[in-house]
Amino acid sequence: KKRNPDEKEFLQATREIFDSLRPVFSKHPEYIANGILERITEPERIIIFRVAWEDDQGKVHVNRGFRVQFNSDLGPYKGGIRFHPSVNSSIMKFLAFEQIFKNALTGQPIGAGKGGSDFDPKGKSDREIMRFTQSFTTELSKHIGPDVDVPAGDIGVGRREIGYMFGQYNRLKGGYEAGVFTGKDPNHGGSLGRKEATGYGTVYFVEEMLKEKGLSFEGTTVVVSGSGNVSTYAIEKAMQLGAKVVACSDSNGYIYDENGIDLETLKQLKEVENKRISEYLKFHPEAKYVENCSEIWTIPCDIALPCATQNELDEIAAQILIANGVKAIGEGANMPCTLEAMAAFQENKVLFAPAKAANAGGVAVSAMEMSQNSMRLSWTVEEVDERLQGVMKNIYNSCLDAAERFGEPGNLVMGANIAGFLKVADAMVAHGLS
Ligand code: NDP
Repeated sequence: KKRNPDEKEFLQATREIFDSLRPVFSKHPEYIANGILERITEPERIIIFRVAWEDDQGKVHVNRGFRVQFNSDLGPYKGGIRFHPSVNSSIMKFLAFEQIFKNALTGQPIGAGKGGSDFDPKGKSDREIMRFTQSFTTELSKHIGPDVDVPAGDIGVGRREIGYMFGQYNRLKGGYEAGVFTGKDPNHGGSLGRKEATGYGTVYFVEEMLKEKGLSFEGTTVVVSGSGNVSTYAIEKAMQLGAKVVACSDSNGYIYDENGIDLETLKQLKEVENKRISEYLKFHPEAKYVENCSEIWTIPCDIALPCATQNELDEIAAQILIANGVKAIGEGANMPCTLEAMAAFQENKVLFAPAKAANAGGVAVSAMEMSQNSMRLSWTVEEVDERLQGVMKNIYNSCLDAAERFGEPGNLVMGANIAGFLKVADAMVAHGLS
């Protein structure tokens, strides 16, 4: 706290981890002796840089770029790039910190990083996005590489932006390094199934959690916040498993369609035309639009999947969901529930799938993209999906097992934090002080 007084998101993420680790330290004082807590909360490196670019009118703009290289004890730094006006050091550090435990949970050889810029892609032309992204990559390229640091997408960064970064990186390096970015177009070096992986993975994880209690998605009513990459594919998979998804949102408001959201309309609006979610009503006038995205949690549902952004679901929203009889929460976004909201769900015995575990499917398939790039081959979408299901099942079982071993059976928040921590902490001890 003393070292990072203004970094509220980062402090929130570290507090959750510290709270979970108490039983670990009383059983294993060697971690304290090795200074693991102090070391694991200090990034190995933070790169902050100027990004100057020119808009279509020839006006010069300057944004700030970041890459937080937090921990490389399990492999090359790995984590997405976010373009959003709210990006700052605290948000970058919390995201990179969460990535340490998430990546460890996947069981794959990947370290943790995160990056981005306070650039706002909304309303920018394709050429402006390209010029900004190229300028951003010119500096980023000095710090990344297939065995060093492998960025991917996040909020505001999808296939198009990854394509521009990949092109600029190879141009600057004078070669073709397929494994330097993940989330690439499958026609140009990407993995099939990556686009769907985070949303699908979240639903697979929640499915495991429900199964344990004799429940399933079949016949349930589901609310999903956001309408971006994670949300779209969480909606798709929940529907495939027999749920009715009645609402989704963007940062302006939410739509409610009591017949169930029409996924084709949603994809056309968001993935093809880049429109606002309110436009859904043009095609489905019977649906309802409310100009306040946080009110989405007032809709009664069995399962809520927050898939938009950090701290989007607070204690008040949690109490409303509980009063309306919610049975399970699956965090598709990173840290979407505040600490108070999470506590309220746990106190009221609502099943809770924490982000670190539940949304790890995206990075897991990114690591599979790295493997395919190294082997110079590509797996079928069925093969990737089967592996993704296996990874999500394993993550679920390691969370369950860690919670049980450390005296909190069924507490997946604790289980995820402990299982991820042990994997990284052991590697840090084995690699000596640094
Ligand atoms: P996208 O940019 O594709 O979509 C983000 C969605 O969230 C949009 O609908 C956006 O609305 C909404 N949103 C963004 N900021 C806010 C805000 N402040 N308040 C309300 N709504 C907001 O991003 P992703 O789907 O890729 O990412 C969503 C979340 O999932 C993030 O927390 C990300 O870190 C996490 N995540 C993503 C992974 C991936 O593979 N993409 C992997 C693991 C986690 P609008 O268009 O109005 O901005």
